Amino acid sequence: MVSRLKNKKDSARLIIIIAGLLPLIIGIFFTGIDARHTVQQQQINAASTLLSQAERMSDSAWDMVTELRQFQHQPCQKIAGQLQRIGALNAYFRTIGKMEQGKIACSSAFGSTPGELKEMIMRDPPVTGKAWWSLSIAGTSGVPDRPAVIFMRQLPDGEGFWSVIDGQYLIDFMRAISSTHLYYFRMVFSDGAPVSFGNPQIAASGWFEPMVYQASSSRYPISVTLVAPPAELIAAWRQVIFIIMPMAAIFSVVLMLLVANWLQRRLSWRDEIRRAITSGQFRAHYQPVYDNQLQCCSGAEVLLRWITPDGNVVRPDIFIGAAEAEGMIVPLTRHLLDLVVKDVQSWQVAPRFHLAINVAADHLQHPEFVSDMLHFAERVKHKQFLITLELTERSLIREGHEVARKLDRLRGYGMKVAIDDFGTGHCSLSYLQTFTLDYLKIDRGFINAIESLEGRTPVLDAIIQLSHQLELKVLGEGVENALQFHYLQRRGVVYIQGYYYARPMGNAALIAWLTEQGMQPVEDASTLQTLQEISA
Ligand code: C2E
Ligand code: CA
Ligand code: CA
Repeated sequence: MVSRLKNKKDSARLIIIIAGLLPLIIGIFFTGIDARHTVQQQQINAASTLLSQAERMSDSAWDMVTELRQFQHQPCQKIAGQLQRIGALNAYFRTIGKMEQGKIACSSAFGSTPGELKEMIMRDPPVTGKAWWSLSIAGTSGVPDRPAVIFMRQLPDGEGFWSVIDGQYLIDFMRAISSTHLYYFRMVFSDGAPVSFGNPQIAASGWFEPMVYQASSSRYPISVTLVAPPAELIAAWRQVIFIIMPMAAIFSVVLMLLVANWLQRRLSWRDEIRRAITSGQFRAHYQPVYDNQLQCCSGAEVLLRWITPDGNVVRPDIFIGAAEAEGMIVPLTRHLLDLVVKDVQSWQVAPRFHLAINVAADHLQHPEFVSDMLHFAERVKHKQFLITLELTERSLIREGHEVARKLDRLRGYGMKVAIDDFGTGHCSLSYLQTFTLDYLKIDRGFINAIESLEGRTPVLDAIIQLSHQLELKVLGEGVENALQFHYLQRRGVVYIQGYYYARPMGNAALIAWLTEQGMQPVEDASTLQTLQEISA
């Protein structure tokens, strides 16, 4: 017992801790996703700025090449000076020049000294088959250790013009972006040598991998790769976490309090019910049922009552619901059956007096349900009751066939089965075919709808007709006045239960009531005149 209590406390503590951690974990998870998104967005922005810069450079380079076309068919000796001047005026360019027959004829850097393109760009020229091409190169013969980009235009007559842009401009641009983000940049024109900046050796750190982003220009063959180190992700994460986590922490505290409160209530309902059983706070009350055919009381429904030591009455729908939710309904019903066994010993009723017991869904599913009921029947056998089990539509839904088997077994022992609160549960009426039923109790809600003796109450009338067709006996519940009573009586409803006939009462009161009024008929059609006046 002690160890069970300890286990329960431990698991309650664990649930509270989980409730507290949950918002924090969710917070960390979502801020992680958010940080990743932020870093990626920053990479997209940086890549797009870098690409548009490279595109602008390409535009100028091609403009330059187009401008140089003015020197087509002109000998190098004549144009070398002008080339040097144009080259010097445009600081952007490392060199510009003219090709003749696949060789460099003259350039701004070397004047009219001819040379090989291969030597100047320090690699074989690409075989593109195209009149226009551009390529990033590791260096040029003049500046071998700094990357550059060459833009070449070949003309059909073997002449051509080119311009070379210094890679330093792109590198400077990368450095500028680097002042806010620690990326490694790598830009390539047509699969040439990379123009890069930053440390390419970015290692993973803990759980965090470097984030790689690649983009290309839609206008030129330029592609760029940006690698963000884990530090970028951690920095972005830190920023959102400072905003989100205080909120998550508040939420976590609130959730912990709510869960603790809920657990407290849950534990206390259980303990309270258990304590109330041992200290005898529960009573069985009985509500007589009128039989229209026999014209007297032919049975009673057992209703559980909880009266606390200070005289308060706990409402059955509340404590029954709590007992069901806390797994206490089976011990509670067993306790009720014990009370009933004691009470009925002093009853003087005719054989086949109906004794209706409310059965909860969980009890019906319980492996010991059949034996519980048989044990009860055995103990009240000498009274020759017709024990009726009142089930709700809801309780028939789960494990239907198993339940049907149990009910058939109990019917085999002479018990009856009633559907309680008919019409308020599930809309499917298919269970009417699956289960063998004896009575149908029409819910109070439908009885309340009766407005006059002659008027129609379509749903109620349909339920009554359906029961007749299924050969089920009908009981009208919650009948509170003569009008409702006679309405039902006229439509062949055999059993009537409600405050109009009798209220639920304790054992002693029931015994007295049965002696005084149990055999009395309810006043009949003689009052009809007055009734019609009332309903008119
Ligand atoms: P129920 O089985 O439908 O019981 C009928 C309820 O209607 C009872 O409420 C009864 O006092 C009330 N009632 C009877 N005649 C009238 C009437 O003319 N007018 C009005 N307004 N009400 C009337 P009670 O005793 O408060 O029980 C409420 C519910 O609690 C029951 O509904 C039943 O579902 C559950 N319950 C009560 N005792 C037990 C029990 O021993 N076991 C189980 N599983 N459930 C029980
Ligand atoms: Ca009932
Ligand atoms: Ca009912």
